[in-house]
Amino acid sequence: MNVAVIGGGAVGVTLAYDLAERDADVTLYEANEIAAGSSGRASGLCYDAFSDRRDADLGVRALERFRELSGGGSFSFTDCPYVWLAREPRPGDEGRAEQRADAIREHVDRMREHGLDVSLLSGADLQERFPEVVAHDVAVAAVAENAGYVDPEEYTNTMALLARMNDVEIREGTPATVTADGAVATGDGTHDHDAVVVAAGAHTRDVVADVAPIPVKPYRVQALVTERIDVEPPMLFDATNGFYVRPWEGGLLVGDGTEAVEQDPDDWTREADESFVTDCAMYQEQALGWSWPTDRAWAGLCTATPDGDPLVGELADGVYVATGWQGHGLMRAPAVAERLAEQVLGDGDGIGGFDPSRFDGDETFEIVEGMDVENR
Ligand SMILES: Cc1cc2nc3c(=O)[nH]c(=O)nc-3n(C[C@H](O)[C@H](O)[C@H](O)COP(=O)(O)OP(=O)(O)OC[C@H]3O[C@@H](n4cnc5c(N)ncnc54)[C@H](O)[C@@H]3O)c2cc1C
Repeated sequence: MNVAVIGGGAVGVTLAYDLAERDADVTLYEANEIAAGSSGRASGLCYDAFSDRRDADLGVRALERFRELSGGGSFSFTDCPYVWLAREPRPGDEGRAEQRADAIREHVDRMREHGLDVSLLSGADLQERFPEVVAHDVAVAAVAENAGYVDPEEYTNTMALLARMNDVEIREGTPATVTADGAVATGDGTHDHDAVVVAAGAHTRDVVADVAPIPVKPYRVQALVTERIDVEPPMLFDATNGFYVRPWEGGLLVGDGTEAVEQDPDDWTREADESFVTDCAMYQEQALGWSWPTDRAWAGLCTATPDGDPLVGELADGVYVATGWQGHGLMRAPAVAERLAEQVLGDGDGIGGFDPSRFDGDETFEIVEGMDVENR
């Protein structure tokens, strides 16, 4: 079977590799260069900390594959526990604070039902296990043990290399769209394939516009990396303050700064906001008792859908999409790609609940932050 993949991010290159592993003849069209999109700007957190069984299963499988694929010299997966927490109520925030704490407790119960390795900790327990985290005002925390991080750009480039070694033809500098009858249109003409999969991140909606509308909104998120730090924190998401941190090449990565506003994928601000950098410095003090100088800061795009679940599967006869990750696309790439490769080659039913045909494509909806404890 001859398959085209449009988009050379983490999802597209893993899919191209998986299709070729299953003997498909694969051409990957990338508008710029491999990892030029969100995958080159991501933070690299990977975990199985989902309360939904399907999401948890995907998380577990993805972690298994990250470990299997890593260590070949080009990218490595580093095990690191993932902590998420809610702080004690502040004046005026009592109701929400209670909801956040309850959401974490419920989340842990659901994860335990799925057999995942997770524990619920008080502020004192957290302090004892992770002395570098400021925990005196923590109401409740959870720790998922099956978690870690990768360098997203290295992961994506490694998978592209493995795909090439499996005879995938990768055409960088080749923007492509899908025509109404399912062919791939590029600057040098139209190309017929037995199937086309569009994993073009924030551009996916535009790439398939002649095939069918899909309800995806790109939105901006931010991250920064500090200079060298002298503590070893876990990966941590603070549901009260909306920031996450993880160790990053000797420094500390601090993320979020989610701007819940739809962006034009061809016209958005790639630099981080000054206010984000200032807020991150304050947050480091609050979370770790110290603030380190910023080395670099940036913004990138994530993609939202009406129900917060991705769009993965067949959109029209022979045309597939994979987008709408709500900030969780990198950590799911190895699991989703495998399942999608099977579906495209007729060996699987796809991922229940992610089917893009569940929407008409013209839905109106608000962008919701993917890491919010109430949304997982
Ligand atoms: C700051 C930040 C932090 C993040 N942190 C995490 C994290 O910790 N964990 C996590 O799981 N996720 C994280 N994400 C989200 C993650 O980056 C994305 O979900 C993931 O990278 C999506 O991968 P993708 O392959 O679908 O898309 P992309 O990586 O965006 O790849 C799409 C590719 O398609 C190409 N393309 C676009 N249009 C065309 C066209 N017409 N023709 C051909 N090619 C085209 C682009 O150039 C691009 O290379 C983060 C995102 C950001 C911005």
